[in-house]
Amino acid sequence: MQPIGVFGGTFDPIHFGHLRLAEEMAEGLGLGRVRFIPAGQPPHRGAPRTAASHRLEMVRRAIAGNPCFEVDAREVASPNPSYTVDTLTALRAELGSEQPLWLLLGADAFLGLPAWHEWRRLFQLANIAVAARPGARLLQSGSMPDELKHEVSRRQQASGSASGPAGSVLLRQMTPLDISATAIRDTLARQGSARYLLPDAVLDYIHEQQLYAHHEH
Ligand code: ATP
Repeated sequence: MQPIGVFGGTFDPIHFGHLRLAEEMAEGLGLGRVRFIPAGQPPHRGAPRTAASHRLEMVRRAIAGNPCFEVDAREVASPNPSYTVDTLTALRAELGSEQPLWLLLGADAFLGLPAWHEWRRLFQLANIAVAARPGARLLQSGSMPDELKHEVSRRQQASGSASGPAGSVLLRQMTPLDISATAIRDTLARQGSARYLLPDAVLDYIHEQQLYAHHEH
């Protein structure tokens, strides 16, 4: 059974850092599919300023043409705050208890995990793959909260070993791409060029819809 990747984010907008993370994880973990799940109302970040429908459409355009990537609209379609634990519970119910799932996270998101709703349950629902930069000593570093360190030391998996449906943690290095959605929004707000930081199809949509054209406070 080929494992499935689950990749959540605000994607405001989606950019090549996100796409490369998904691509490298898909290749490295042998994922049959990566499911991008744009957040509706992210509980930890305040409401994203761009309408969920636009963020969803940008993800659609960004992944078009990659048969391994798919988008899942359940969080943007929900009126409730989107907790990852609820989304994974729903996916688990749909896909069955045997299906290996990999929750894909950037290192920054991973370090914030203990603030997530019922975060320990995430380890029961999926394996967790953390994308770090070469040389990052994330898992030994003092920056990791103790409670997270404890979970990781029980669960950390050697690269390449077979995984079960859930419960492992894997740190994988990825090509460092210092691209952030915040920086893209700022660039666009001052009418700068964001070309080559995100797919042209997404940038065209942004211009068509006049997203990020003004600073909002
Ligand atoms: P912002 O700049 O507004 O914080 P973001 O670009 O980090 O946004 P999110 O949608 O919040 O985008 O990120 C979704 C996931 O992608 C998170 O797990 C985050 O760690 C990861 N991620 C974002 N940018 C990169 C990048 N350049 N390289 C690797 N991972 C990234």
